[in-house]
Amino acid sequence: MDSQTGYCLDPTLCVWPLALDAICDSWWDWHLSTSRLFGSADLLHLYGLASGQTVSVHDLNRLIHPEDALRVQRDRQAHLEGRTPVYYSEHRVQGPEGRWKWILSRGQVLSRDRQGQPLRMVGTDTDLSAQKDAEHQVWQQSHFDTLTLLPNRRMLSDRFTKAMNPHGNSDLQLACLLIDLDHFKEVNDTFGHERGDALLIEAAHRIVRCVRDTDTVARMGGDEFAVLINGLQNTGYLERVLSQLLHVLSDPFYLGADPVFLSASIGVSIYPDHACGADDLLRNADQALYVAKGAGRGRFHYFTPELQQAAQMRVRLGQDLRLALPEQQFFVVYQPIMELATGVIHKAEALIRWQHPTRGLIGPADFIPIAEATGLIVEMGEWVFQQAARQVRAWRTMLHPKFQISVNKSPVQFQKPSSTHTPWMTQLQQLGLGGDSIVVEITEGLLLSNSDGVIDQLLQLSDDGIGVSLDDFGTGYSSLSYLQKFDIDFVKIDQSFVRHLIADSTDLALCKAIIAMAHALDMKVIAEGVETQLQRNLLTAAGCDYAQGYGISKPMLPADFEALMATFK
Ligand code: C2E
Ligand code: MG
Ligand code: MG
Repeated sequence: MDSQTGYCLDPTLCVWPLALDAICDSWWDWHLSTSRLFGSADLLHLYGLASGQTVSVHDLNRLIHPEDALRVQRDRQAHLEGRTPVYYSEHRVQGPEGRWKWILSRGQVLSRDRQGQPLRMVGTDTDLSAQKDAEHQVWQQSHFDTLTLLPNRRMLSDRFTKAMNPHGNSDLQLACLLIDLDHFKEVNDTFGHERGDALLIEAAHRIVRCVRDTDTVARMGGDEFAVLINGLQNTGYLERVLSQLLHVLSDPFYLGADPVFLSASIGVSIYPDHACGADDLLRNADQALYVAKGAGRGRFHYFTPELQQAAQMRVRLGQDLRLALPEQQFFVVYQPIMELATGVIHKAEALIRWQHPTRGLIGPADFIPIAEATGLIVEMGEWVFQQAARQVRAWRTMLHPKFQISVNKSPVQFQKPSSTHTPWMTQLQQLGLGGDSIVVEITEGLLLSNSDGVIDQLLQLSDDGIGVSLDDFGTGYSSLSYLQKFDIDFVKIDQSFVRHLIADSTDLALCKAIIAMAHALDMKVIAEGVETQLQRNLLTAAGCDYAQGYGISKPMLPADFEALMATFK
């Protein structure tokens, strides 16, 4: 029996080692004068030592990871000198087969000599491998994307912050690239999520191959990726990466047998020129991305201060937009749609306008995307429909008994159908109108939607006799098979095909092909953006049914529309 502590000196006769054995922990009993260490079977096993082996403390010290050894030594010394009440250390040791494992070592001095020098210390070593593995897994999951295994947004932010170290090289530049796959949503809807996932993984590999190991590629979510380019010396490397990225992402992706063609849009911002923090840099790259997409996709765009102003303007417009409907700042103009064979007009498209109290007249291209992003489009679209319905009733009496007005309906209106509004067909019936008085203009992307809700709404329109028109045809992810699936009445050839229309041009060949296809599927064709007599003649000769454009008339207020119609009589 130890005179100072009352503990048993001989471990074989002790009770506490038995207790520790019972809870399966590895205990040790260190006699400092001899350096001899008595240890449980578990302890020897933990260090990969043979059971029954006599060990000294030096045997175990040798197995401590070199990076941790000094710290362990310091902590132990502090306790031996009586500066800490207990010894506590988490460190790595080399176990069986030479593998490093984390252990938690805890202990306390049991007895000291008259001078206070430690004689004996006891403690436990606990294997932390399972806990460290679990911690690592949690860390991994919170810093990496599970699909592509790339770093995620959080990890990217960390890397940015580290790379922006202000004490480092002051000439250092970083580039932040935000990459968005164009039309990925359509592909995902068409081919299903499993193949969509496979495409994202392949896209991730392609992006990684374009950059150096020292750069970071991250997945931001959905079809958006980001690249952090470190230590940018000159723009040469950046330009090369950008053009390679555009190139590799426009190569066909094989999802099964069929090649799928995508492109990518990229927004670029540079540290420290464009922002000093990770969040600002990403936000600026996002604004540049927005411009790249708006400019026709498949391209990159650098952030500029003007872009920042434009983004701030969008925020302000978004705030003002909330007041526009209650304060009656919207009005609707109507653009005639002419039957080409006869020159008769008994169709028009309703187009919304915003008379802003201080900024003047604002066109839909500047506020519809904001209204879509904020969800205001639902109320706005409902209001436009109501104006158009009242207008068509008046014009059926005044101008033509079969007059028909088309109304643009945003995909957001289909995705978030309003439950508070009376169905359009009921509203038409209340005005004494049939479904054929209205045409709903939709975009190609909507047809690719797999959502049952959207499909039901489209089919319901046809059941009610309301016309369906495919707007801006040829600009989206055109899939002819989808046209057949839905009851489409009109195809509107996008302005971009009509703008440069001359005899024997590719555009004319495309227009003819669209017309032939639409007629074969029993649909009528409307050419948009018809400005010249030549375009009109070529389209008439090609068998196009209707034309709409400044060459016939710009969109007009109802009174002007009526005056124009009077000149036709
Ligand atoms: P859209 O549906 O394709 O409408 C045709 C656009 O082309 C209109 O622009 C029209 O003014 C313009 N346009 C017509 N003829 C010509 C021409 O000969 N040359 C040129 N350069 N342009 C011509 P607007 O009114 O600025 O509308 C732009 C887009 O905003 C529309 O494109 C439509 O997508 C959207 N939009 C307009 N009103 C509404 C609405 O009430 N609801 C929704 N959801 N979208 C709307
Ligand atoms: Mg339209
Ligand atoms: Mg259009």
